[in-house]
Amino acid sequence: AKQAGRATYRIFEAQMDLELQERKSLEHDLRQAMLKNQLELHYQPLIDISTKKVAAVEALIRWRHPTRGIVSPIDFIPLAEETNLIVAIGEWVLETACRQALEWPDLRVAVNLSPIQFRNRELVEVVKDVLRRTGLQPERLELEITESVLINDVSSALATLTALKELGVKIAMDDFGTGYSSLGYLNSFPFDKIKIDKSFIGGMSDKDKSGAIVKSVISLGQSLNMVTTAEGVETAEQATFLKAEGCDQLQGYFFSRPVAAEELTRFICDWNDRGYE
Ligand code: C2E
Ligand code: CA
Ligand code: CA
Ligand code: CA
Repeated sequence: AKQAGRATYRIFEAQMDLELQERKSLEHDLRQAMLKNQLELHYQPLIDISTKKVAAVEALIRWRHPTRGIVSPIDFIPLAEETNLIVAIGEWVLETACRQALEWPDLRVAVNLSPIQFRNRELVEVVKDVLRRTGLQPERLELEITESVLINDVSSALATLTALKELGVKIAMDDFGTGYSSLGYLNSFPFDKIKIDKSFIGGMSDKDKSGAIVKSVISLGQSLNMVTTAEGVETAEQATFLKAEGCDQLQGYFFSRPVAAEELTRFICDWNDRGYE
């Protein structure tokens, strides 16, 4: 038994080595990624229900790796956070998205902020500099944060959000409903928008309670004077339900996947010609 245990341990160790190597190699590549122009932003439209037009786009990062192909943010954002590379990457995202937004004068652009970025003392200065460098009107930039940025230090989170609001940018609470105490946060922080997490939208057709939750989040948003957005809208039925419940904006594969900027420009032209019923 002892020997078997030792053997198992050796396999375990070897596996650990492999994972560590893999991680190191990915980390090395990620450091290069920005210099080698391998990072790109894709954009996904948010449709405004009342005007039926594209109201905003969310910037979503992609990494075009030389050998691995397109790496999803789910697979490299955590590594970027652990290595603090997210701070530089995040600044690149902000600047690229703001510059791109200049080509879509009627739209807002939404950028995701990592908790690491949010807690970085330079954040407010970085956002201010990016706005100055690009010349984008502040109210056209929307920053998406998750409630995880709020939990540890409520007072400094509030100070950061207040300073960002003073710049004139909009703040959205992303993944609403997935955390522990979203409701309390809505009360204490100056959010302009709630994004209902796609897990609730996906669950609406089931016999579970998602539909009821979505309804109440929409009316909560309305009474707090916040814009409500549903993410992950994949079907006409979901869109119809959300529209009937008074949700303000819809986002999801039903309308468009996240696509490269040129493709989104084509989408906007087509869409605004064709409209949405
Ligand atoms: P998120 O902010 O919640 O973004 C929404 C995710 O849902 C995106 O995944 C989007 O492609 C996907 N999505 C959109 N519509 C649908 C739909 O109808 N059905 C389904 N199943 N999914 C849909 P993506 O692009 O893979 O991004 C994953 C996450 O990575 C994002 O979640 C966000 O947390 C993070 N992320 C992406 N870009 C950035 C970035 O520039 N900075 C930071 N810090 N995080 C980012
Ligand atoms: Ca988001
Ligand atoms: Ca989400
Ligand atoms: Ca998310």
